Amino acid sequence: MQALMMNSQLMISSILKHAERNFPDVEMVSVTVDNPRHRQNYKTFGKRCRLLVNVLESLGAKLGDRIGTLAWNDYRHMELYYAVSGSGMVCHTINPRLFPEQVAYIINHAENKILFVDILVMPLLEALKEHLAKVETVVVLSDRAHMPDSSLPNVLCYEELLEAQSDDYEWPEFDENTASGMCYTSGTTGNPKGVVYSHRSTVLHALAGALPDVTGASNMQTSLPVVPMFHVNAWGAPYAALMVGTKLVLPGPKMADGETLHDLITSEEVTVSSGVPTIWLALLDYLEANQKSVPSLERANVGGAACPRSIVERFREQHNCTVVQGWGMTETSPLGTIFGLKKGMEDLTTEEVTDLQCLQGRGVFGIEMCIVDENNEELPWDGVAFGALKVRGPWVAKGYYGLSDVPGAEGCPVDEKGWLQTGDVASITPDGYLQITDRTKDVIKSGGEWISSIEIENAAVNHADIAEAAVIGRYHPKWTERPLLIVVLQAGKSLSREDVLEFLNDKLHKMAMPDDVVFIGELPHTATGKINKLGLRKTFEDYQFPVE
Ligand code: AMP
Repeated sequence: MQALMMNSQLMISSILKHAERNFPDVEMVSVTVDNPRHRQNYKTFGKRCRLLVNVLESLGAKLGDRIGTLAWNDYRHMELYYAVSGSGMVCHTINPRLFPEQVAYIINHAENKILFVDILVMPLLEALKEHLAKVETVVVLSDRAHMPDSSLPNVLCYEELLEAQSDDYEWPEFDENTASGMCYTSGTTGNPKGVVYSHRSTVLHALAGALPDVTGASNMQTSLPVVPMFHVNAWGAPYAALMVGTKLVLPGPKMADGETLHDLITSEEVTVSSGVPTIWLALLDYLEANQKSVPSLERANVGGAACPRSIVERFREQHNCTVVQGWGMTETSPLGTIFGLKKGMEDLTTEEVTDLQCLQGRGVFGIEMCIVDENNEELPWDGVAFGALKVRGPWVAKGYYGLSDVPGAEGCPVDEKGWLQTGDVASITPDGYLQITDRTKDVIKSGGEWISSIEIENAAVNHADIAEAAVIGRYHPKWTERPLLIVVLQAGKSLSREDVLEFLNDKLHKMAMPDDVVFIGELPHTATGKINKLGLRKTFEDYQFPVE
């Protein structure tokens, strides 16, 4: 028997229409190169999105075309999100911080004919000119006064194009499984791979994300997504915010700048902000060094990499702000799990709550997860057993652009049983809290035992004089592999190898104690702010453990 309910398609444009009608006065505040504090409300935003669709059509863009963006978090990038997807084209966000050859590969692979580019990214594009034969039009996200000189053909000015259009446009309804967005993810091997989101996956992801126990998004909140809009849709904030009418504050190119973040948080009364641990360390250090605070900030969402305990403690003790850690991937849109207490945990001590905040959180409705051993047998949720993490759900990728989406086939991330193989190694507590212990390829296999590099790194960064730490496995004649701890010290501090080992002694089990500690000035990071272990493995290729 068929239901008798309307078959309304889940459309990204419906979020915009809802915001325009219900929250016309809610503000979207942005930092851009041409304006340090641009303000517009959702009514104006909706109108500009319609102008932009007419611009796209005047440039010859058609249904299904992948429209490339190389831009920071600001209102023009938001307009692209809604206008491109809402009209049936595909908003392809590209990370300008990738290696130039990767940027060129991604643009060519996705066959982007039109690119929308921030002023600051123009030099990168100029340098890639010879490699972008298929790009027909470059639109600079700027007004006429700030247009840069360019040797690229057909460079147009965003604001001029908008001025020349009418806002007469009706958002179409089409199949909710139509592609709406695209984001390439860089594995450590091979070329970047394109994850393709749909209207349905995006809307469901935003709905789940906005639930009270998930992000608690609300009209009462002001949100500052520091996580870039070129990386997994800024974790869905651009959609969830308009769904519930949250005021958005967008930091533009000033994402890692503690001073700008502090200024935005205090002057715009930001209540919630999201970013990778590196961003929070930069902000906390700035606040501490300058004796400043962020009284309005209630919640800092952290993800993308394991959150050091010190971030949880410093936010709580110095700023009365709760750290909420989540886990996800480009392939999972990204929301997979997020921290939240359960009923019955009201009496936990601060220490115990901190312990839970340092885990990766509980499953969100819509995402099923399991951990399996080397024989693909499911492991118990007992907080002890750890194995390969697999997930599935309506906002999880089933394939990559241009590669096979047949489960189990080469190039497909989904196994024969229909689960996405995340590449993460994890355990799950009886209460359902996920604990990522490693990436499959980073785990150290010592004498047949698995050692978590993240566990050692987390323990090390809890030392007040250690700024950052990374652990890689290196060859050992007896154990095959043993952990090598690589440490970056806080400015002006000095520690010896013995000091560090002594500090770790009662925090790690014997097998996990690193065999050696080396000190370097800076750790290499990937374009998305994660420690680049591949780079570290290259640097320490010839490293040998001291003979005891
Ligand atoms: P990406 O697709 O670039 O966003 O990277 C996804 C990967 O980042 C995951 O597979 C994890 O390895 C890692 N990751 C994301 N969130 C966390 C977290 N909270 N703790 C530890 N690792 C994380």
